[in-house]
Amino acid sequence: MPAKESMRIGHSYDIHRLVSGRPLILGGVQIPHETGLLGHSDADCLLHAIADALLGAAGLSDIGQQFPDTDPAYQGADSQVLLQKVHALITQKGYCVVNIDATLVAQAPKLAPYLFAMRQNIARCLHILVEAINVKVRTHEGLDAIGNKEAIAAWAVCLIDQREPVQ
Ligand code: MG
Repeated sequence: MPAKESMRIGHSYDIHRLVSGRPLILGGVQIPHETGLLGHSDADCLLHAIADALLGAAGLSDIGQQFPDTDPAYQGADSQVLLQKVHALITQKGYCVVNIDATLVAQAPKLAPYLFAMRQNIARCLHILVEAINVKVRTHEGLDAIGNKEAIAAWAVCLIDQREPVQ
């Protein structure tokens, strides 16, 4: 007989194009830069990757299914609101978030000074301690579109569990 299901993992990836005339928002933090990410919402690829990882872990498909970009309600949407909605969805299924590990891949700008503020935003959206969120950043060694400053990508892995969250 299989063990009772409790913990589940999820992972995801997102990438958005960098263009002029858009704000650069990552992890809910607006970062001064000459270009920003293009997308239907605020194009926050870090929060999209985290949201998708959580939905995947809970067996709830992805943010494209949950929040279609054909829906005008999500035009210019703050992705922190999307992440809060994802938290509500996984909570309805009886899960809480144990931890998240994410990696931003950006050639520019330097993101290290903003990582703690990103973690605070993510922790607030998911009702967990900031220590449960890890965000790190890598360059793309000048290679391909990311290395040429034409895009920023993010990877995320999460663990969810059917237990009371530590708050
Ligand atoms: Mg996206």
